[in-house]
Amino acid sequence: MTHPLLDLPPLTAGRFAAIEDRVARLLGTAQDVVVMQGEALLPLEGAIRAAAGPGTVALNIVTGPYGQTFGNWLRDCGATVHDLAVPFHTAVTAEQVRRAFAEHSAIDFVSLVHAEAATGNTNPVAEIGEAVREQGALFYLDAVASVGAEPVLPDAWGVDLCVIGAQKAMGGPAGVSAVSVSERAWARMAANPGAPRRSYLSLLDWKERWIDGGRKALLHAPAQLEMLALEACVERIEAEGAGTVMARHAAAAAATRAGALALGTLEPYVYEAKDAAPVATTLRTPPDVDASALVARALAAVPALPLAAGGGALAAEMIRVNHYGPDATLTAVQDCLTALGAALTETGRKTDPEGARRAAGDAWERPGGAGLSGA
Ligand SMILES: *Cc1c(COP(=O)(O)O)cnc(C)c1O
Repeated sequence: MTHPLLDLPPLTAGRFAAIEDRVARLLGTAQDVVVMQGEALLPLEGAIRAAAGPGTVALNIVTGPYGQTFGNWLRDCGATVHDLAVPFHTAVTAEQVRRAFAEHSAIDFVSLVHAEAATGNTNPVAEIGEAVREQGALFYLDAVASVGAEPVLPDAWGVDLCVIGAQKAMGGPAGVSAVSVSERAWARMAANPGAPRRSYLSLLDWKERWIDGGRKALLHAPAQLEMLALEACVERIEAEGAGTVMARHAAAAAATRAGALALGTLEPYVYEAKDAAPVATTLRTPPDVDASALVARALAAVPALPLAAGGGALAAEMIRVNHYGPDATLTAVQDCLTALGAALTETGRKTDPEGARRAAGDAWERPGGAGLSGA
């Protein structure tokens, strides 16, 4: 018997290339876009190992857990790494980046995470990109958590390596990802004797054997189901309108923030709304309320909610409301607030779930937050 997920005709090179072009359009980029056959960590690691080596002097900006990972890869490649770490409750500024360049004039590589789903902050990439351009450094950006939730514009921002994944705000699959690569970045890789070649991590293999060959022959069997899912999710974004999808995420973030303040006991983890990521909102519990226990309580009552506790040391004090993809809705936000309110009530805290739902609804309707009246 045939099965909808099995017995599919092979995914052709032409279809694969068309999916790459569609992703490129979503990013508004004229750069080469390579769709990588693995979760976003594949191009994230592959791009660093290709572009960095013993001669590299890197500014690694750490605004969450992924920045720490990138610093480790850079050091592993032999690069000299200057970490610029800012507290997870805020964003890095272009001013701080400029100061780092003034201190270390040899910096020729900058790694940055755009939005951090894990910590709920987002960084001003356009402004930072200007500083990076003045420095003449190669600019590497992890836009996995921002794409679909807020504008990601590699060409306008001077990003040389922009990595995206579909599993967050794009509402797509986790098993494929993409990276846009500038001419400068290709040149840097080609000149790097340590860049992976004949390797699953290799971007240069895709350049030399796929792109330069006119995208006629794939390097290996593609992750067919994931490719079809990526195509479908970009199609769905195009149908709804990328602007509408982003507005939904911004509205969900504004609604969660306002709702949490009205609920009481919980506070936005990111101090200023302008630094808060549209993809996910983090909340802070008071010292005597364990965040992971509270989330477990809320999920025991309503299992399908997009709630999680922070990772590692943050598990005690951080709640993540992952209002992305299909969960970027007012209903999802309000249900999370209600469940958190009920869990807090069980632990003897006074909250105002009705007020929270109302405040979330008001924020959702506010023009800056959404402009989605009636949606
Ligand atoms: C989600 C995410 C990734 C992908 O990592 P997973 O843990 O596999 O989901 C990479 N970078 C950022 C900033 C992310 O938010």
